[in-house]
Order: sequence, then C-alpha cells, then structure tokens
Amino acid sequence: MTDGSLQATLNELHQRYRGLSTGRVADYIPELARSDPSWFGIAVATVDGQVWAVGDHDRPFTIQSICKPFSYGMALEDHGREEVLRRVGVEPTGDAFNSHIKLEAATKRPHNPMVNAGAIAVASLIAGQDPTQRLNRVLAAFSRYVGREVLVDMPVFLSERTSGHRNRAIAHLMRHFGMLDERVDEALDLYFQQCSVRVTARDLALMGATLANGGVHPHTGQRALDPRYLRDVLTVMFTCGLYDSAGQWAYEVGLPAKSGISGGLLAVVPGQLGIGIYSPPLDERGSTVRGLRVCADLSRQLGLHVFDAWMARRAAQPPASSSACSATSSSS
Ligand code: GLN
Repeated sequence: MTDGSLQATLNELHQRYRGLSTGRVADYIPELARSDPSWFGIAVATVDGQVWAVGDHDRPFTIQSICKPFSYGMALEDHGREEVLRRVGVEPTGDAFNSHIKLEAATKRPHNPMVNAGAIAVASLIAGQDPTQRLNRVLAAFSRYVGREVLVDMPVFLSERTSGHRNRAIAHLMRHFGMLDERVDEALDLYFQQCSVRVTARDLALMGATLANGGVHPHTGQRALDPRYLRDVLTVMFTCGLYDSAGQWAYEVGLPAKSGISGGLLAVVPGQLGIGIYSPPLDERGSTVRGLRVCADLSRQLGLHVFDAWMARRAAQPPASSSACSATSSSS
C-alpha cells in the first residue's frame, strides 16, 4: 500500500464512521462525562516512523486502561516473569474489566493484568522508594513509548480518586487475600494516576509502533521495553486486552489491542505498525464503538490479522526444500 492510499483509507474510514451515533460516553468517572461524543481521531504509525492521521488525532484524553500493558511491562522489568506471574495470572476472565467475581477463585490471584484487579496488583509492583519516585518512573516509561513527555491530567485523576469505590473494594479484597501489601492506597493512587496520563490518538499509534518495533521508539530510537518481555505484553493484549470480547476480537480482528474507558483504542501489528483511535462513545463492554469498527475494517482491508499476515508471507515464500514442513505443504 502506498502512503497516499493509506491516508485515503483513513480518510474514508473516518468519513464512514463519523456519523455513527451508537454508544455512550463513560460517566462513572464524572470528569469523563464532559467528553464530546463527536470527537473522533485515527492515527497509524509505522515502525520506520511514518505517521498518518485524520480527524481529532491531536486532541488529548486520558489513557485509562490502555496504560495497563505498559505498566505490566514495567513490573516484568522490575521483578522478572516468575515473580509477576505469582502475583497476576495471564488467563482471560470472560468478565467485565471492573469485575471482582473471579478474585474469589482458588488462587485469589487476579486473572490477568488487563482487568482492573490485575492492573492494581501490577501498580503495587512498580519499584521505587516512595510514591513520587514510582509515579515519576511510570511517567518516564510512558514518555519513552510516546516519544515526548507525558503528564497526569489532575482533574481526571482527582475525579476517579474520589469516585473509584469499586476499584477500592477490589484492592481491599486483594489485600484481604494477601495479594497486595499494606500500601493499598498508594497502589490505588498510582493506578488512578497512570490511568489519567494524557495522550492523543497519534501518541497511541506511536506507542503501538514502539511495541511493533521490538520496544524501540521509531523516532527517538530510545528503548521503552526490555525485548525479553515484549512477547508477554503482546500476548496478554491479544488474549485479554478486550476483556469479555477478547475471543471475538482475536477471531475477527486478530491483533494485540487495548481499549480504555475514555474512548481510546490501541492496536499493534507486530513488525509493522501501531494504530491509535479516539472516540468517546462506548459499547456495553466499555470499548469505543467507532474505534472497534475502524480497527476491524483496517484489519480486514489491509490483511492485518496476525494469521492472515502469516499466511500471506507463507504464500509469498518459495516452498521449503526439506523438513517435515515441506512434507506437510506438498501433501496439502
Ligand atoms: N480508570 C478506569 C477504571 O479503573 C479504567 C477502566 C478502563 O479504561 N476500562 O475504571
């Protein structure tokens, strides 16, 4: 696909879905209810640093749950896979992002780092001497993914901090089970702060492109994630990033992705590009309605589903001359 035709594709998708009026803007965090349902931006960034965008791609919003894969990467870097797995699993829940139900299951361990329980447990694992240092480490890490300095949106942070009773309940339940240490309020504050980091759709596309590029930002050349943990981060995005529609998403769209309650969606095409979309109206599972449609159409139109891409590469390659693989392909 040429540069011009990718821009034309984005323009066309924006045009196709800008009039879609289904979905509701989140209001359980009061400050988010101020978002205009018509805001709509799409951006794509490639691993070689090109960016295409349309609509409100530079309008800031809070990252919300899209922070979760990035803080999970930090926890892996801070403690290693084994210790993090002891505290947070990698199983999809099939439940809503803010559910506490599965916490009562045998292990008392949150199922995965993409739901709130797991992400709060991950926040409690971020290393640092005190809350300021931990927040500064998170901001520095997110800034490396974005390629510029990012900051916390104070009104949104304070709004969620005062209204986040369900997340407090989840955190205290985990404390009760011994899955969080005594710094429950500190873990919650860090979780609310990282959810309140301000980004744009263009930023999300570059964060995705950084993951697609093996953890190195395509513009700055800075490493944002230890390559040992890249696969882990992308895997939990693939299997759990869309919560209780993760299976359907993997089936239809086939990309590691993460949605957030403010209306953001980030998807990664490994080795190729990152996609960032912003549109506040949400479906009943808390994901952006226009974002899901745009991403699904992009995946289909450009053949981005990871297994489609793999089959296209396979078809383009000359048949292998030896090994069991060639035997299989010649008999099929
Ligand atoms: N901060 C939000 C919450 O904890 C994030 C949820 C989301 O984006 N799905 O409820």
